[in-house]
Amino acid sequence: MELAVCDIQSTSAMSDESVHSRIQEIKQEMGDKLLILGHHYQRDSIVAHADLLGDSFLLAKMASESKAKNIVFCGVHFMAESADILTSDSQIVSLPNLRAGCSMADMANLEQVMDCWDELIDELGLIDPADRDDPTAPAETGESCLIPVTYMNSSAELKAFVGDHGGAVCTSSNAKGVLEWAFERAGENGKVLFFPDQHLGRNTGLSMKISEDEMAVWNPDTEADWKGLESSRIILWHGYCSVHRRFTTLQISELREKIPDALVVVHPECPRQVAEAADAVGSTEYIRRYVEDAPSGSYIGVGTEINMVKRLNAAYPDKTVECLDPMVCPCSTMYMIHPSYLLDVLERIKVGEAANQIIVPSETASSAHVALMRMLAITS
Ligand code: SF4
Repeated sequence: MELAVCDIQSTSAMSDESVHSRIQEIKQEMGDKLLILGHHYQRDSIVAHADLLGDSFLLAKMASESKAKNIVFCGVHFMAESADILTSDSQIVSLPNLRAGCSMADMANLEQVMDCWDELIDELGLIDPADRDDPTAPAETGESCLIPVTYMNSSAELKAFVGDHGGAVCTSSNAKGVLEWAFERAGENGKVLFFPDQHLGRNTGLSMKISEDEMAVWNPDTEADWKGLESSRIILWHGYCSVHRRFTTLQISELREKIPDALVVVHPECPRQVAEAADAVGSTEYIRRYVEDAPSGSYIGVGTEINMVKRLNAAYPDKTVECLDPMVCPCSTMYMIHPSYLLDVLERIKVGEAANQIIVPSETASSAHVALMRMLAITS
């Protein structure tokens, strides 16, 4: 193996144009041995190099279908983990900046979830599906199970926990289908533990006609409200997305005052009141299609990450697409993927180094794979 010829100090000293050209050169040299995946929330100077652009689920699926030896994931840590879980052992998944995490995913760790799980099982007298012969078989008459559902935006360890305890992963586009599947297995008085995003869980529950009174919030740092937990059907982890929770109903009413026929579409990680005030609620891919399908001349207020909104506005010049929050910042962790970091890993990959490789330990990967495959089976 040759020695790596580049490091981040040297790439950061290069001009933007030189970085751009060198990335393109390496991409050409490596051909189909290299696949660069870009999340919709990445900055334009990264998206310019992405072979495929999508949301976290679509990108993980694209990674699993790719034969490229090296997959460079321009997104955040949990996304690269999912790609590693879904690709073969001979493929190498790299994250250009290892500090690019997700503040929501960090709000639930394995230890906290295991403590919560044990307390709920003991205090509420629920059955742990892991103790049944078939963890995913529907509950029998008289049985009340606790079914775990984790959002894609969670660590591989939590996905593995869910896989081991008869649950499934969900995304913002299939959360309803996965929750329906979970309730079919929970039994008459069973419950679903949904983590880490309370807003996605709540908005999805409401869309299934589950009232807010039937949803309790679990916060590992506060005293549990056992009465509320007992009467709930969904137990929501207290996590949230720092980007999507900034959107408010005031922003929507101000936009409608300015443009009475404006359309409003928001992501389901937004708070309940914002989702209810919007014309439409859906995943990143849903928002993209909503804008695409809106009639020419539409004015559309969007409640999601600013890089994506600006790109939509540029992509559809016959429509006006603006972010509901004029002061909104990009997702700070997505923003940690800078072209210099991308070039640094590409230079190292080119000389045979497994640069910034994301490796999920095999035992964790195998249980997490089970939870991801259940999701695919439920929603395919
Ligand atoms: S937008 Fe929110 S959920 Fe997505 S990576 Fe950033 S903090 Fe995490």
